[in-house]
Amino acid sequence: MIRAREQQAISRCRKQVRALQSEREALEANLLSREPLVEGSLVTIRKVCGKAGCRCATSKRMRHGPFLSLSILRRGQTRRIHLPKPWEEQVRAGVEKARRYRKAHQQWRDLERRMGVLWKQVERYRKHVPYEPKQKGR
Ligand SMILES: [Zn+2]
Repeated sequence: MIRAREQQAISRCRKQVRALQSEREALEANLLSREPLVEGSLVTIRKVCGKAGCRCATSKRMRHGPFLSLSILRRGQTRRIHLPKPWEEQVRAGVEKARRYRKAHQQWRDLERRMGVLWKQVERYRKHVPYEPKQKGR
């Protein structure tokens, strides 16, 4: 019942599904890594301490710092967390990992959407209406 044209179309879909599956597998391996993700973004700040006669009061360039802090959005409010020097490298890596995670997750969703389109095609090519058998004349 399945004609050659439909069979070829299904073979094409099959190849595309296989390709998407291996792409998805690579993404999932990446998403399932154990490396910590750090929410928020890094900001550099320079401070004025407020002590009388301190150099920081004279100009912006003389302010203390730069200090690295993490800016996080919580319940609609921005919070800043000061990062001690020894944490900087790890937090920076975590922020970068979180960015990559979000990107990979978006790619994963795109793949799923493309898979969905392919399944629809497969269904269309596989669907056949059997011919009604010819009725013998009465
Ligand atoms: Zn100062």
